[in-house]
Amino acid sequence: MRTLQRLFPRTVAIALTYLVTIFTNCTGVVQAASDVPAAMAAQQVSAHVWYVEGLSALGTSANQNFISNAAFVVTRVGVVVIDALGSPALAERLMAEIRKVTNQPVTHVIVTHYHADHVYGLQAFKDAGARIVAHSAAKQYLESEIALRRLQDSRQTLAPWIDEKTRLVAADQWIDGPTALTVGGVRFDIRPVGPAHTPEDLVVYLPQDKALLAGDLVFRRRIPFVGQADSGRWIEALDALLRFDASVVVPGHGPLSTTPRADMQLTRDYLSHLRKVMGPAARNLEPFDEAYLAADWSRFESLPLFGVANRMNAYNTYLLMEREAR
Ligand SMILES: [Zn+2]
Repeated sequence: MRTLQRLFPRTVAIALTYLVTIFTNCTGVVQAASDVPAAMAAQQVSAHVWYVEGLSALGTSANQNFISNAAFVVTRVGVVVIDALGSPALAERLMAEIRKVTNQPVTHVIVTHYHADHVYGLQAFKDAGARIVAHSAAKQYLESEIALRRLQDSRQTLAPWIDEKTRLVAADQWIDGPTALTVGGVRFDIRPVGPAHTPEDLVVYLPQDKALLAGDLVFRRRIPFVGQADSGRWIEALDALLRFDASVVVPGHGPLSTTPRADMQLTRDYLSHLRKVMGPAARNLEPFDEAYLAADWSRFESLPLFGVANRMNAYNTYLLMEREAR
């Protein structure tokens, strides 16, 4: 707060503190915009894996909050879904896409993290009998006032897609460490990689397909949402992901990647750049505004969502680096 008051008039500082507190989805803000409802068409990624790609946009009523990706893995005895999309209606659309490929039931949903755009569809899968798997570090968020406020806020801003019937769904199986799951002969290596983008980050690797489902550790063709992330640990986690011998990566946002090394590098470089320009400013008590204006953003400013996300990402990084300097 002290920092905010140094930078902004009191009323703006209070509003910003509120925003910094409640931002818990992957894009930072929900704004009224004229996005068109996105078509959803599953694309095959590898022998067992398909995915649907959300818009590179902020969540709105108009786009139904279809702003993140989800994947599904088809085996001979059932389907494993990775992430549940941003509303129950989107989850129903995803199930319709799955039925175009197989009649097998969805047996599991693995949640990469509990940001709204990845979990508001969970109840549709739960009601259809799927078992929800997530990292136990999400429990604290799920039980928090912030999660409840966020949902209440979304019932207004994302109506009618998020409504009084939309609920937060806890996992049936909480995991704490690396976990292997085999369904219909397909092996899933589920690895905790947080705290990075969130405390509960999971990635899923399918060794038979050499496919990595990376959740929001990887954003493609857009500026990542940093929010309350621990960017230092996020960079370390990306280095760990690079050690998987993946041929294809499905990111949490943006198109799949068949050149994982180069594409993961963009997220990594952006986070490193934020830390490089904000770190010295925070340590030297240089005002945020001056440091922001002085920084060279030319490498990233043409990426989608730069305009809405970069300043907040930089500011959150400034606060993080201030805490790290203490
Ligand atoms: Zn996220």
